[in-house]
Amino acid sequence: MKRTEIIKIDPDNPDIHEIKRAAAIIKNKGLVAFPTETVYGLGADGLCADAVDKIFLAKDRPKGNPLILHIASPDDMPQVAKEIPPIAKKLIQTFWPGPLTLVLPKKPHVPYQVSAGLPTIGLRMPDNIIALTLIAETGTILAAPSANISGRPSPTNAKHVVDDMWNKIDLILDGGSTSLGVESTVLDLTEDPPRILRPGSVTYEDLTDVVGEVQKPLGGQEGKLSPGQSYQGLKYTHYSPGIPFFLVEGEPQAVIRRIQKEAGKYRDRAEKTGIMSSEENKEQYHGYADIVKSLGPKGDMTQIAANLYRVLRDFETSGIHILFAEGYSEAGLGFAVMNRLREATKGHIIYA
Ligand code: AMP
Ligand code: MG
Repeated sequence: MKRTEIIKIDPDNPDIHEIKRAAAIIKNKGLVAFPTETVYGLGADGLCADAVDKIFLAKDRPKGNPLILHIASPDDMPQVAKEIPPIAKKLIQTFWPGPLTLVLPKKPHVPYQVSAGLPTIGLRMPDNIIALTLIAETGTILAAPSANISGRPSPTNAKHVVDDMWNKIDLILDGGSTSLGVESTVLDLTEDPPRILRPGSVTYEDLTDVVGEVQKPLGGQEGKLSPGQSYQGLKYTHYSPGIPFFLVEGEPQAVIRRIQKEAGKYRDRAEKTGIMSSEENKEQYHGYADIVKSLGPKGDMTQIAANLYRVLRDFETSGIHILFAEGYSEAGLGFAVMNRLREATKGHIIYA
């Protein structure tokens, strides 16, 4: 068994000696968890097959789910991308560093484990000083999926990483809570117009503003989705708390009434129930559940996204037997939030 070390790092002014130590671990084929602006990543040398194998082992990740490569500068793209189309340059100017992953044709030396056998790679430059300094110090390109056990909600603080990865990895850089809280948007540039494979922190509206037409993800049966993405939990489990979880979608008043009714039923059977509510609705659930937690105001999707995984993990350890959540509008960041909620329920969706 490995021994994991954890060190606190100032996110605004990281101690370069600590970062150099972390970089040395990565150059030595080790695993280091670090904060990005989206969620915590589990980093390894993305150009070394042995190091990448260790990520799949530590996370218990299905081999068919490719990893995103992380770079510290757009200048490093040609090391791994075979072609960089003009549209990529436009997107990079607007969104990098930031939560946009570009899918591009890969160079042959990128280990097949990284791309899960696909002819493409996912590539991004994160907007976080700890992450950027670490990548630059390694002198390589980091493969870094979210630092959770496969299938679980992504980690948005170092404690979440400790809970999932303790004694499975070498080092955790604790840079506090991540700011965005949902993962990057994955955009496939091998299609024209480009297609969103996984909704994320850069919204559909943000993308169409810059490049015009953008295709939305296809449903599971129709084929093209990011390999790691299932369709409402049908392929791989994703973002899931370890308790039965139901999402209730529909007209806002009907959603409240339906959650009251469903949660009340379980409560009458003496099962401990939880409700994940918006701030404005939480009073409505008094007496219907044992624990009600708010994600934030409905009008502030940024806050709801930032809190989502932490609240899911808090519910998991709260002793409830069943959890209900309200659905949100799919405009803007709501598209990514609803994607994560639907996936987290493994298809348990109630239409009110
Ligand atoms: P994670 O880093 O855990 O958020 O997972 C990375 C996700 O990026 C995968 O689940 C895929 O959905 C996506 N991804 C990475 N590389 C590719 C690629 N070459 N083609 C399509 N999707 C990709
Ligand atoms: Mg993940």
